[in-house]
Amino acid sequence: MNGDNAQRETRFQGVGVSPGIARGKIHVVRDDGDDVARHRIEPSEIANEIGRFETALIQTRSQILEMQERIAQSIGAKDAGIFDAHLLVVEDRTLIDEVLRKLQADLFNVEFIFQEVATHYADTLSKIDDPYLRERALDIQDVTRRVVRNLQGKAPKDFLALTERHILLAHNITPSDTATMNREFVMGLATDLGSRTSHTAIMSRSLGIPAVVGLHDVTEKLETGREVLLDGYSGLLILDPTPETLWHYGELEHKKVLVAEQLTGLRETKSITRDGRHIVLSANIELPDDVPAAPKNGAEGIGLYRTEFLYLNRATLPSEEEQYETYRKVAEQVAPHPLIIRTFDLGGDKVAGALDASDEMNPFMGHRAIRFCLEHLDIFKAQLRGIMRASAVGNVKIMFPMISGLEELQRALAVLEECKTELQQEGHAFDQGTEVGAMIEIPSAAMCASRLAREIDFFSIGTNDLIQYAIAVDRVNERVAHLYEPTHPAVLRLLKMVADAAREHEIWVGVCGEMAGDLALIPLLLGLGMDELSVGASLVPRVKRAVQSLAHSECQKLVGNVMELDTSSEILARCTEMAQANYGELLG
Ligand code: PEP
Ligand code: MG
Repeated sequence: MNGDNAQRETRFQGVGVSPGIARGKIHVVRDDGDDVARHRIEPSEIANEIGRFETALIQTRSQILEMQERIAQSIGAKDAGIFDAHLLVVEDRTLIDEVLRKLQADLFNVEFIFQEVATHYADTLSKIDDPYLRERALDIQDVTRRVVRNLQGKAPKDFLALTERHILLAHNITPSDTATMNREFVMGLATDLGSRTSHTAIMSRSLGIPAVVGLHDVTEKLETGREVLLDGYSGLLILDPTPETLWHYGELEHKKVLVAEQLTGLRETKSITRDGRHIVLSANIELPDDVPAAPKNGAEGIGLYRTEFLYLNRATLPSEEEQYETYRKVAEQVAPHPLIIRTFDLGGDKVAGALDASDEMNPFMGHRAIRFCLEHLDIFKAQLRGIMRASAVGNVKIMFPMISGLEELQRALAVLEECKTELQQEGHAFDQGTEVGAMIEIPSAAMCASRLAREIDFFSIGTNDLIQYAIAVDRVNERVAHLYEPTHPAVLRLLKMVADAAREHEIWVGVCGEMAGDLALIPLLLGLGMDELSVGASLVPRVKRAVQSLAHSECQKLVGNVMELDTSSEILARCTEMAQANYGELLG
């Protein structure tokens, strides 16, 4: 501070989950809930309520049209078509007439009446055993929320449609919000909740948006329009930054730009260790839009395609045909490199609008991923058929998420076989030799890895989940984020079991969780014998430089040494020491 007039800044410490610095005005998103209050009205107020209702329907209609237009421009007319069904809801005469009738009969405010009638209507349709009507029920629910918000005078959740560049500050941003927001206008993300391996954090990294999570109650302290600096490296949100702070960050950005320039030169080089071991370096993607960033950053294909992200914001699930088209286009873009498509991993912190996501006490341990798919074979088979058909044009591989043991894996494989037989009978082309893998992200699967290895072609270790289950640390809970320790001795043992099983059965093994992009831990993963690392595209150059700087034999020795250690911090210190000695300029 210099002098009495010195500007004072306030710092809020969170967890930096996506590197980069953003500076500008914040836009605070308040979670104002969707409760609908009920109150009596006088008969004389009916006309006014009808007027409000009509205005809300017109407003909703124009919002839907606007959204349809935006999606048509950014993704394509086909996806925009899903909003046609929403338009039908605001024009549905039966629904509207019933609202008007009940309004006069019951004398309650119109938002309450509308919610009641629409919910009843949707519930009735959803119980009929007809896929078309069930889809209509979902459309009604979606549109109902919109109409009610308009009746309540609440802005639609349209930070998703910002028209000026802002740093978004929210209590929580869901993965589906991240998938739909306009990236051009979002310079940075900051949230009260969240941790490093939440899907919002993962998405912001792949979108290259600086992000800080776990800021506790910061949304209650700040207002839209305030000037901040967001430091995604060390997890700081600085309100009213002083000139000194701005100067410091200017310097930091300059250094980062220099390192980034050096790294771009690595794009065409191979990720081979000093002693000649090739480590396949692939990229993780959430949406087809992310594909171009993979070759641009020098990745050798896609190691994890999180397909569920395509479907988080939709009122209806995609058909086999639509999925085939999507996977085919991505496979063509990525070929001849591999595209590893993971089957739907819905559940946990990823909830699709189109599904009945009944609240669960422990969603991460609940009805998610392969468990969900094995109970909804129509959904699972449509996806597997779509993927297999795309295998005809690209180098496609399939992997199943959240496998917990042999029988589950065998059931998933049997469904895949069934799909192949059907496709063959129907005359569809596909690649008979498509590799199939299992994600190892539950400790029970790691412990049974040597048996699972006999069934499949590869393992891909999902450390984000594996660590949360191994040490019982919820990956999205900021209160326990400090307990999330990738170098916990137990985690190390699980990783080693999987890598050893893969070697013994001559299948390949990769890591696609966030641990693969943690520069201090690359020596450990290489020493354990990982054949592939799959990380967010923006991390690929740094990881490649790390791989090129290391000797595999030294990494193996490191693993021999750290297996003897008792604590996470000792193991981390040894790994960091080795990373520092080989590529110190990339750390810190
Ligand atoms: C993981 O769990 O490490 C993983 C890669 O899958 P996701 O992060 O999508 O759960
Ligand atoms: Mg996972």
